Amino acid sequence: MNGPGRRPQTTIFTTMSALAQRHGAVNLGQGFPDESGPAHIIEAAVDAMREGRNQYPPLAGVPELRQAISEHQRHWYGLTPDPDDGVMAAAGATEAITAAMLALVGPGDEVIALEPSYDSYKACIEIAGGVLVPVRLEAPGFRLDLDRLAAAVTERTRVLLVNSPHNPTGTVLHREELEAIAALAIERDLLVVTDEVYEHLVFDGHEHLPLASLPGMWERTVTIGSAGKTFSLTGWKIGWATGPADLIARVKDRKQWLSFASGTPFQYGIATALASGEDFYREYIAGYQERRDLMVAGLEAIGFEVYQPEGTYFVTTSIAPLGYEDGMAFCLDLPERCGVVAIPNQVFYIDGPATRPEVRFAFCKPVHVLEEGLQRLGAGLA
Ligand code: PMP
Repeated sequence: MNGPGRRPQTTIFTTMSALAQRHGAVNLGQGFPDESGPAHIIEAAVDAMREGRNQYPPLAGVPELRQAISEHQRHWYGLTPDPDDGVMAAAGATEAITAAMLALVGPGDEVIALEPSYDSYKACIEIAGGVLVPVRLEAPGFRLDLDRLAAAVTERTRVLLVNSPHNPTGTVLHREELEAIAALAIERDLLVVTDEVYEHLVFDGHEHLPLASLPGMWERTVTIGSAGKTFSLTGWKIGWATGPADLIARVKDRKQWLSFASGTPFQYGIATALASGEDFYREYIAGYQERRDLMVAGLEAIGFEVYQPEGTYFVTTSIAPLGYEDGMAFCLDLPERCGVVAIPNQVFYIDGPATRPEVRFAFCKPVHVLEEGLQRLGAGLA
């Protein structure tokens, strides 16, 4: 797949965002909020720029950010990554995941990941020379089948790549599922990389439980986080990896040949952001839960089968009850037909059937934009 002869591929998000622009469509495709994050966080970054903090940061990030990431993990989960050698800032979670894969996966190694999966996983595992082995979450519940997970482990499995809350299904792994993952990782002596970028987006009183907090897991787990989702600042691309010093040292060793380091003033801004009080997070969840409910009810009323998400700002639907089978064809047609953009879930499958009826809508948009999107869908699909 990789190598000099490989045909360049555009991601679905680029294609769909271009279609959104061309048709003046409501973009419920890519997961970026329309609103910027809190003003005091933006001011903190502006202050940093004005104070002259505009040169390279250290590879692992400025000390203030590393301290704030560590303190955030302690406050919410009782985890205590060492700010000096257990925290690494990155150009978004994407770079942190890529560096982790390059560090922990070698040629021919297998990485087990939940499927559907965020599309950068397969790409960066392949860059590392590894192979993504999917364990499928099936509609309607999209729960993890623990027998299937255990059966996927082979002699060549190196890493379990977990994502909870899960994009695109909205599944939040529950304690029993996480304990089973932990037991398997310990029994088969596997490393775990856990993508928790939606850690604060969990609804209905569900709890986000980091895998690294389970007994026996800290020493084998790299946890990935991002400020983009939590603080509605996706364009700043500040993400991180936390974990035991030996694993983080390996991840840093790879990251130095990627960006090396980036975003000095934004790192200061996010250090301020992470110190936000619990009220900020409560309001954030409440705002998204309201939008989740609006979308679920609105899409159901139009005739979609809706799989209610427990977390993230995505909702997966099926277009089958509307009489369609192929999510890709449906989504390519949607901007012109309805003036709305959505993402076909089939792009999140490794090599599953070419056509799938699942379609993902992002609800990280203001209520009036969601209402406009629903109204257009209702009118165009009637
Ligand atoms: N992981 C998941 C599951 C995501 O959904 C995303 C963004 N859509 C990322 C990682 C990337 O995060 P960042 O923008 O911080 O690189």
